[in-house]
Amino acid sequence: MSFEYSSYHGFVFPVDAIVVLHEFKKLYRPPKSFLHWRTPLDLLIATILSARCTDAQVNRVTPALFVRCRTAHDYLRMPRKELEKSIHSCGTFRSKAKYIHMLCRTLEAKHGGAVPRTMEALTQLPGVGRKTACIVLYGAFGRNEGIAVDTHVFRVTRRLGLSRGKTPERVERDLMKLFPRGEWGRINALFISHGRAVCTARNRQCGQCVFRKKCPSSLELGKRDLAK
Ligand code: SF4
Repeated sequence: MSFEYSSYHGFVFPVDAIVVLHEFKKLYRPPKSFLHWRTPLDLLIATILSARCTDAQVNRVTPALFVRCRTAHDYLRMPRKELEKSIHSCGTFRSKAKYIHMLCRTLEAKHGGAVPRTMEALTQLPGVGRKTACIVLYGAFGRNEGIAVDTHVFRVTRRLGLSRGKTPERVERDLMKLFPRGEWGRINALFISHGRAVCTARNRQCGQCVFRKKCPSSLELGKRDLAK
C-alpha cells in the first residue's frame, strides 16, 4: 500500500495515521495486554507494578502474588512488609505497596471490592492515572475510553510525526483525534510492538522499518529523531 499525506488542523502528517495502523496490524499480533492476569483486579495491580519496570519482570512476580491475593480484602490482610517483599524486584516497592493498600482500601470502601468500569471512577483511585485506567478499561472490560501512552507509544508517535506533544496527555489527545475510537484500545500494544521490534529507545533501526521512506525521523532519509 502506498503512503498518503493527510492533514489535521493545518499540520501535515508525512505518514498517514490510518496507514500506520494498517501496517502495524499486518506486522504485529500483540495480545490485549503484555501483562499476565485473570481478573480486573489482577490487571490493575499488575499495571501499577509495571511502572518503571518491565512487563517480563512483573509477570515473574505476579503469579505467586495473585494466588495469595484474589480480592482487595486479601491484599489488605497482607502485612505491608510482606507485600513489599513480594513485589521487591519490581522496583519502587515501598511506594507501590503503599498505593496497593490505599487502592484496595478505597475499592473496599467505595466499590464493594470490585474494580470500577469508568474512567472517572478509576482515575479517582489512589495511584491510578489515565494510562493505567485505559489499560484496565480496555483489557478487562473491552472499553475504548482512551489511549494508554507509555514510553514506547510516546516515542513512536513523536518519531512518526503523529504528534508534537511534549507530554503523554497531549500525545494521547492527538492520537485520539487521529484514530477511530474502536481502535483506541489496541493502539498501545501495536505501538509497543513496533517500539520494541525496530523503533527502539536506544537505536532507530530504520533500515528494517516499513516507514523508512516516509517517516520524518528516518535515518534512511537523514532525519533527526523527533522524539528528542
Ligand atoms: S523509520 Fe525509523 S524512526 Fe521512523 S518509525 Fe521506523 S524505526 Fe522509527
